[in-house]
Amino acid sequence: MDFDVVVIGGGPGGYVAAIRASQLGHKVGLVEKEKLGGVCLNWGCIPTKTLLKSAEFYENITKKGNTFGIQAEKVTINYEQIIHNSRKVAERLSQGISFLMKKNNISVIFGKATLEDPHTIQVEGKTIRANYIILATGAKPRELPHLRADGEKILNSRHALSQKEQPRRIAIVGGGAIGVEFAYFWNALGSQVTLIEMMPRLLPMEDEEISKELAKIFQKKGIHVRCHTKVTEAKLKDSLLQLTLVKNGQEETLEVDQVLLAIGVAPRTEELGLEKLGIQTQKGGWIQVNEYCQTSVPNIYAIGDVNGPPWLAHVASYEGILAVEHLSGKEVTPLDKSLIPACTYCNPQVASVGYTEAQAREKGYQIKVGKFPLRASGKALAAGEKEGFVKVILDAQYGELLGCHILASEATELISEFTLGRTGELTYHELLQTIHPHPTLSEAIAEAVHVALSKPIHI
Ligand code: FAD
Repeated sequence: MDFDVVVIGGGPGGYVAAIRASQLGHKVGLVEKEKLGGVCLNWGCIPTKTLLKSAEFYENITKKGNTFGIQAEKVTINYEQIIHNSRKVAERLSQGISFLMKKNNISVIFGKATLEDPHTIQVEGKTIRANYIILATGAKPRELPHLRADGEKILNSRHALSQKEQPRRIAIVGGGAIGVEFAYFWNALGSQVTLIEMMPRLLPMEDEEISKELAKIFQKKGIHVRCHTKVTEAKLKDSLLQLTLVKNGQEETLEVDQVLLAIGVAPRTEELGLEKLGIQTQKGGWIQVNEYCQTSVPNIYAIGDVNGPPWLAHVASYEGILAVEHLSGKEVTPLDKSLIPACTYCNPQVASVGYTEAQAREKGYQIKVGKFPLRASGKALAAGEKEGFVKVILDAQYGELLGCHILASEATELISEFTLGRTGELTYHELLQTIHPHPTLSEAIAEAVHVALSKPIHI
């Protein structure tokens, strides 16, 4: 119980940090109060992607099958199996992390950790000592005073991932990535879905054109998209929930069976005892860190969701490695937030990196913008996935790759090309010299660059 490095939290931030610390020769302990893998593997990234695959399967068979000459009769949904499969995949991955901990000689201590002093941690009666502590306790779903999750009528994402019955009529409050993914999932399986967003558009952090096009596609699918709208009250009446929606001062009532709250997250710090050690937090309770993820107590680091946005698994893992390498005295490159890809896994998917068009203009760049529609891509047509487009934003003066915004069936896989280009400070010249295999969706990125330079090839 005497370690060089103790990591609190076994999510994608914590377990990656523990592995790298062990690789660098430290004696490492990892404390986890629930399951290895954290939210990402157990209640986030992975189980949601498994559900989305079920939805895509169903959509492909029922809506596209005829076009491709595949006819299936009496296609039915076994919702319980959909949930079971998702839980099974999560369980398998969590066991995989357990294996990785053993392989890397990391001592896993199950229980709730509380900080005693900068070098001492209490875990349910056990005292642990560490030279360095890495806080990786993540975040939990946020609630509203008038909308509190009860797991029956009002759900958070965790409830939604384990509920065995498909909702008939559901309102999703929050049009960010989580709300959008669940809206796609339930709509594809036939639930009546209303997606409510307080901001003027869905996925408010994405480029405006992407949000608008996605809203159009969702509406075409039958999802009721309600932007600029707030839910101010929820009343239970005869087992139905009556929601009061307010848009531009006008009130309206919506009746649903259930509500999913997808309004963001709050830090999971309440059990840590940060105040006792004087660890500073910022607005919202997120732990304050410097560019190396060091807190105001220098031997204590905070990585991943718990130190604030963007709340993404790949950011947590990157910060895990960064923090460990920093405390080991290695030279490290701080995270540049403009290089972080953001992904939403509805269908078509949304992925982006760098600046939106509006942000690039605000920053004073002279820009060239190119948009290539997927309906002009041979691969997209062959796959029956012609919705969406690729939009690139380039610096007119030096050719810098400023931003890429993709709405396409494999957007989340496609975005890495542009992310690598931006990270390596490439220009559009190198992107155009890069030979894209044909036929692939990746050609659409090069095509969008041609469009930006006013030399379109296939449109
Ligand atoms: P977590 O994964 O939250 O892990 C923290 C761990 O710390 C937990 O296991 C917790 O039990 C443990 N812990 C907390 N307090 C203590 C304590 N006092 N003692 C001991 N242990 C403690 N991100 C993406 O990048 N892509 C996606 O597709 C994606 N989809 C998502 C879908 C949903 C529905 C949700 C909710 C989130 C999604 N996310 C996604 C976000 C992603 O899950 C998080 O960004 C990621 O899990 C953060 O990792 P972390 O290591 O910081 O924290």
